[in-house]
Amino acid sequence: MEKSYVWGIDLGGTKIECAVLSAADLTQVIARERIDTEASKGYEHIISQVARLVSRVSEQLGVSPTRIGFATPGVLNPATQTMKNCNTTSMNGRPMAADLTKALGVEVRLANDANCFALAETHLGAVQDVNPKAEVVFGIIMGTGVGGGLVVHGQVINGLHGIGGEWGHNILEEGGKACYCGKSGCVEHVISGPALEEFYFSISGQKLRMPQILQAHLAGTDIHASATIERMLENFGLAVSTLINVLDPQVIVIGGGVGNIDLLYTEGIERIKKYIFNSGEVLTPIVKPKLGDSAGVFGAALLFHSEAI
Ligand SMILES: [Zn+2]
Repeated sequence: MEKSYVWGIDLGGTKIECAVLSAADLTQVIARERIDTEASKGYEHIISQVARLVSRVSEQLGVSPTRIGFATPGVLNPATQTMKNCNTTSMNGRPMAADLTKALGVEVRLANDANCFALAETHLGAVQDVNPKAEVVFGIIMGTGVGGGLVVHGQVINGLHGIGGEWGHNILEEGGKACYCGKSGCVEHVISGPALEEFYFSISGQKLRMPQILQAHLAGTDIHASATIERMLENFGLAVSTLINVLDPQVIVIGGGVGNIDLLYTEGIERIKKYIFNSGEVLTPIVKPKLGDSAGVFGAALLFHSEAI
């Protein structure tokens, strides 16, 4: 009975979400439940919240899982088996896979939430519409941060250091703003929402959010807004062209709040053409995601299942 279900958990800083999908039809959601992470209460509490959520869903279904995939804010360092790069900082340095296995009595597999996003959009989302046979897919997150996930032959690539897909910390602007990662001028500090808002503030002296900046640019009434959008487009072209030069994916999916801006899919692609090593031609379908907030938890569920697809 258990084998007919596929379990995934999205372990966010605010909410922990569990989804159980039908193994026979992954688009069918059997159960879905959320619980507050209450991250401020510390690491042990987060683990116990996960256990509480799993036992609640198990009771509902009358079935306990034997394997659960997890989408996490950072990554499990493959060398040390401890977490790193988590913005829920209490997780960093902790052997979370081992602790979850101990607390839940199940086999676990962990992947970064951006990797889970890419995996879910590949198997269940936008990639299915444009090229279901795509061998290489890159999922971009452009929102409050910039991240990414790489899926090859249906499998997520965590990589040797666990940083597969982390293009958000490639250096884009030499001498740019200092990043929490210890370097400066990272992609994330140029084209994330907060970085663009900060840029707008630095040239206009006004605090506006991205949707307002975009609106002012489209209305043609604010030269600073237009300069901000120009900065976004040009740097998007530059940063994405390097991704294509290295991976040449068959599909790129762009999630996150900034990723929702239509101009990226028109003028943004023109800017990629400027920099790509392909005589100015970009054939890559660059598309919006389809699964919305569900991508993390669905991708987590697919971590065990994707081998079979
Ligand atoms: Zn960085």
